[in-house]
Amino acid sequence: MAIKLPAGFEDMLPADAGFYQEFVALAQRVFATYGYEPVITPQVELTDLFVRGIGEATDVVSKEMFTAISGENLATLLAGGTVKAKSRLTLRPEGTAGVVRAVVEHDLVPQGAGPVKLMYAGPMFRAERPQKGRLRQFNQIGIECLGAEAPSVDAEGIVMLMRFFRQVGIPQESMVLLLNSMGCDDCRTPYREAVRDFVRRHADRMCPQCLERAETNPLRAFDCKNEGCRAVMADAPRITDWLCEPCRGHHDAVRSYLAAAGVDYAEDPTLVRGLDYYTRTVFEVQALDTNSAQNAIGGGGRYDRLAEEVGGRPTPGFGFALGFERCRIALEAAGVSVERPTSCDVFVATIEDAQRAAAFALVQRLRDAGVHADMNHQERSLKGQMKLANKLAARRVVVLGPDELAQGAAVVRDMGSHAERTVELDRMVEVLAAEVRGAEAPAPEA
Ligand code: AMP
Repeated sequence: MAIKLPAGFEDMLPADAGFYQEFVALAQRVFATYGYEPVITPQVELTDLFVRGIGEATDVVSKEMFTAISGENLATLLAGGTVKAKSRLTLRPEGTAGVVRAVVEHDLVPQGAGPVKLMYAGPMFRAERPQKGRLRQFNQIGIECLGAEAPSVDAEGIVMLMRFFRQVGIPQESMVLLLNSMGCDDCRTPYREAVRDFVRRHADRMCPQCLERAETNPLRAFDCKNEGCRAVMADAPRITDWLCEPCRGHHDAVRSYLAAAGVDYAEDPTLVRGLDYYTRTVFEVQALDTNSAQNAIGGGGRYDRLAEEVGGRPTPGFGFALGFERCRIALEAAGVSVERPTSCDVFVATIEDAQRAAAFALVQRLRDAGVHADMNHQERSLKGQMKLANKLAARRVVVLGPDELAQGAAVVRDMGSHAERTVELDRMVEVLAAEVRGAEAPAPEA
């Protein structure tokens, strides 16, 4: 039996992969105008980084990590030997922890320095139950800004994300931006207690999971999908009523920057997000009308304690990540084309095998001139080669035949209009390269 792709994983075939690359390139261009530079960190980190950074009580760490024990003798382990921390490796479930580790390790924000602005793109891995929009390997594009505490950093990041979503083609009216503040240790600790008390007081109406979570991570009760829990949590204490003075000031400033930039948002005091490291600003962008339960296309927030958690000096941070596959669903729902079929500029066909060497040489010269050119590599008649040219969506076919070659020329057929002309071989590359460049050139301004 043929071996199939495991559930929750996806092959990106050329038309999809081409779109993904364009999507990442657009993000890179947009984010570069805000000063973000690319960073590439490994897809594997020490398990401890995620346990300490993201938090043991989160779903991501407690249930969804792909972890491997590397380089240890399996027999010793099975006999009850202990696993060294450096042998426990995990496929990254998100990008922030690794980037913050790299910033700390390479001291990218020396004391007193300006903030460092980094962006990444690549696969993340979570052992979740697969469904539409929820994969076990998915692609995120994210940014992290470390070293600045000002609310303008948060607002700038959110504005940048919304600009990117618009530029990639997600209609404004198909998205909603939800905003909240998680406060800081000072205000969140008593708030957490208040929510824990509240959940305990309503224990008879809450699901067993929320009751269990109330002990470790009571705010997660806001994320419960159970209707009964949702009804109870609608009356739970709101973080916005518990913010300390500095956190309230920060939140108000973010809101006024967003308003000044003309970015619409909805306050959502129940937005807590699944990771432990957030402080103050948190936000999420949801796609409407996608018919998918997994409608969060991006989200993030401030994490002023994370650098310390991974062993660095106190360094405030802000970041977000957006999910490529969920954006693709949102774009498809909005009727935006997400396929990038490729087409070949010139296909070089031969009437007889004797012209193959000439075809091979011509194709190389065309490619050297930047033209996407191809030829036949199998046993095929001229008719068969024309079929292949059609399959490759070739715009033109150059036909090399014995008579024309003897005269130093070849026939060029336009595959759209079927018009044919004879072009001298000496000028062939120059003529075709100029045509291809002309087709690529932007239309002159009206
Ligand atoms: P998170 O790190 O959970 O805030 O995720 C950031 C973004 O990544 C989300 O808004 C989604 O767009 C995307 N994402 C998260 N988990 C998955 C998943 N399992 N499958 C596909 N996309 C995901």
